[in-house]
Amino acid sequence: MLADPCPRDGGIQVRYRGKVYCTTHDDLSSITTSAGVSYDNVVAQMREVLLSRLSETTAALGAEKEPARQEQLVSLAAKYFELLQKLPQK
Ligand SMILES: [Zn+2]
Repeated sequence: MLADPCPRDGGIQVRYRGKVYCTTHDDLSSITTSAGVSYDNVVAQMREVLLSRLSETTAALGAEKEPARQEQLVSLAAKYFELLQKLPQK
């Protein structure tokens, strides 16, 4: 739940997957009824963040010439990947 009320109608706003929804005028039936901080939301958000970081790290690894830096990137990618695999699959 966000601190600021909806500028249109003063309704309570919630953030879900990076978007802000008003509980008064937006149709919430298409999203989860327990929007906000919940286990599922955090897992979904974490998956998105990890995937995007993994993608960036992989791209950086492809462009990196220095072995020491490559080692850092591989280690980082391995951690992201490991964490991704630990997340519950849908
Ligand atoms: Zn509203």
